[in-house]
Amino acid sequence: MFDEVIARNPGEIEFHQAVREVLESLGPVVAKHPEYADSEVIRRLCEPERQIIFRVPWTDDRARVQLNRGFRVEFNSALGPYKGGLRFHPSVYLGIVKFLGFEQIFKNSLSGLPIGGAKGGSDFDPKGRSEAEVMRFCQSFMTELYRHLGEYTDVPAGDIGVGGREIGYMFGQYKRITNRYESGTFTGKGLSWGGSQVRTEATGYGTAFFVKEMLKASAESFDGKRVVVSGSGNVATYAIEKVHQFGARVVACSDSSGYVVDEAGIDLDLLKEIKIERRGRIDEYADRRASASFISDGSIWDVPCDVALPCATQNELDDENAIRLIKNGCRVVAEGANMPTTPRAIHTLRDAGVRFGPGKAVNAGGVATSALEMQQNASRDSWTFDYTEERLSEIMTSVHHRCLETADEYGAPNDYVVGANIAGFTRVADAMLALGVI
Ligand code: GLU
Repeated sequence: MFDEVIARNPGEIEFHQAVREVLESLGPVVAKHPEYADSEVIRRLCEPERQIIFRVPWTDDRARVQLNRGFRVEFNSALGPYKGGLRFHPSVYLGIVKFLGFEQIFKNSLSGLPIGGAKGGSDFDPKGRSEAEVMRFCQSFMTELYRHLGEYTDVPAGDIGVGGREIGYMFGQYKRITNRYESGTFTGKGLSWGGSQVRTEATGYGTAFFVKEMLKASAESFDGKRVVVSGSGNVATYAIEKVHQFGARVVACSDSSGYVVDEAGIDLDLLKEIKIERRGRIDEYADRRASASFISDGSIWDVPCDVALPCATQNELDDENAIRLIKNGCRVVAEGANMPTTPRAIHTLRDAGVRFGPGKAVNAGGVATSALEMQQNASRDSWTFDYTEERLSEIMTSVHHRCLETADEYGAPNDYVVGANIAGFTRVADAMLALGVI
């Protein structure tokens, strides 16, 4: 099956990696349930239901025509409308969108909520672009994509390079073209126009909730732990916030220019001001904080820690980094980002007895809270922060439970990778069987 996926999707290495990781877990399921093989569920899962690739022309501030490519891969809708974020980053090509969309199927399934899997984005680079340029790009992107969306069809949200600002411009254009105030077509909206409390914080908070459960399962807690969080965007920021609330100390974080070490613990207000509010560089954090230093060469994973949370991007933690983490005494690695750990690094960590939480379980809180946003939109209601956070916390606890229970059932106790892949797979596979050959 894997050879077939490679042959049908040449050059899409990240997609191959994501598929391989899931297929490697499914042996025991297929052995136990021949009906999945009989109806070619796995083969069908590996083929997106629909892939949309389109031209995105726009004019920059100097009136020059710019051109980008837009993508939406609607991977699977057996469990609900297509659901998943949009990524704006120069590295985006079909292979990245397909890896993310494929992972999203299992993540969304594992969340237990009624959402299918999709992902989209563009190779547009928002870095250095003015507000007006970002708006024109978003409007052009939506002028094509709107026809494929809808609250019962496909519901995008944010990812790298897409936050509340971009969702606003896209929702505005969608509303204008369709002449419908259809809140449920997007999630990650602003609080005054249909957004949900806690959605901004959800991926990071959810990561911390999940790791809290991982620690609890081995009779430990966050109290007094040293934590390293890579990244300094939306996921990293709110993971740091919650981990601090749980009594641990985050001593390092990063961006694409390097990382900062702050033995006094990351000052979150300062980090937010520099990275989120002003979209600045992380070296400024070290300039403004006496206890911090900035390192532009080497790796953030050289910093000794008990818990490592890769919250930046795919394949940011390789085998060499894993070996260093183990040597420095790290006991838990959990993925706030999508597929940040390379397959070899995962292997090395698990062999050394490090507890490893895969992204499709650990970072499911973001999309789960998107589903809560859809629920609020459908009932024209809005919930309080505390109530929404409580719901998120319960969802993360149940995702954790589902992983361990499934891992046990299939003879791989404490293996979160096996647990997440099998639990995610069986729910969507059963729905596909029930819906027939479609
Ligand atoms: N991009 C996020 C993820 O990787 C969130 C998607 C959503 O909320 O739809 O899960």
